[in-house]
Amino acid sequence: MARIVITGGAGFLGSHLCDRLIERGDEVVCLDNLITGQVENIEHLFGNPLFTFVNQDVSNHIWVPGDVDAVLHWASPASPPDYLEAPIQTLKVGSLGTHNALGLAHSKGAKFMISSTSEVYGDPQVHPQTEDYWGHVNPVGPRGCYDEAKRFSEAITMAYHRYHGLDIAIVRIFNTYGPRMKPRDGRVVTNFLRQALQGEPITIYGDGKQTRSFCYVEDEVRGFLALLDADETGPINIGNPNEFTMLELAELVLDVTNSSSELVFEDLPVDDPMQRQPDITMARERLGWEPEIQLREGLQRTAAYFESLGIDNL
Ligand code: UDP
Repeated sequence: MARIVITGGAGFLGSHLCDRLIERGDEVVCLDNLITGQVENIEHLFGNPLFTFVNQDVSNHIWVPGDVDAVLHWASPASPPDYLEAPIQTLKVGSLGTHNALGLAHSKGAKFMISSTSEVYGDPQVHPQTEDYWGHVNPVGPRGCYDEAKRFSEAITMAYHRYHGLDIAIVRIFNTYGPRMKPRDGRVVTNFLRQALQGEPITIYGDGKQTRSFCYVEDEVRGFLALLDADETGPINIGNPNEFTMLELAELVLDVTNSSSELVFEDLPVDDPMQRQPDITMARERLGWEPEIQLREGLQRTAAYFESLGIDNL
């Protein structure tokens, strides 16, 4: 049993992490300013003695009284439309927020774990992406606010590790989907599922031949816990290596939802990566982790979640 602070704990991934930690008996202090996180994701935990929620912007000074065993820094907008709308807050939470969370971990003698991203690889020229690839990122493009914030957060985490001897872990998260994603977060899985369920056209950006590799949230969070419990700093890729074009994803979504929505083609966003696939050899060998839920089943579960929200409310 441990006492764990999680920033961004009301977000899509953060809230699943809160659930799993509490299930195993850990005490969780969740900090979130609810810019992109949602109370709905955590309200089932209100009243649980193991759970505390503090509405707080972690880019400002943070302090948590009492002992802390681990600080998990998960706060950040993560959907491209979200971080394009809040570029300065995204840069602040990746830089100032990471510094504050590191400071908290350091002062408590706690382990620090940071959610990094496959975006540190940018539009990768090495495929699949291994952790030793330095990436191909445009610092001044629109995605730079997210990519560079995360790259900085990795750099300052390593500086605390080297300079202060802080116990750290860095996880590079690839595209993840599942229940609690906001139907209108603008990401591809949510857009396609919502469009298919509502009988709207499916919006393919570019020619749809770009690829992504999608991990179901349950698998992803199991990977986070494996890393938290391990004696590994990373960075380590946690993602599902099965790679799909956006056209293949659209076909699968239509099939799973039994929808006859048409496909429409729209402009490709600036600097949209052409391909993305994690090499998970390191996670397999060092954490004994690999994903179990494949895309069709994960999409079925996510579609069921959207249906439970009411298709007209999506
Ligand atoms: N995409 C698309 N249609 C949409 C939303 C996204 O074709 O309605 C594409 C997008 O251009 C990108 C991929 O899907 O190539 C994944 O986009 P997402 O925003 O989910 O995340 P990313 O992996 O780019 O961070």
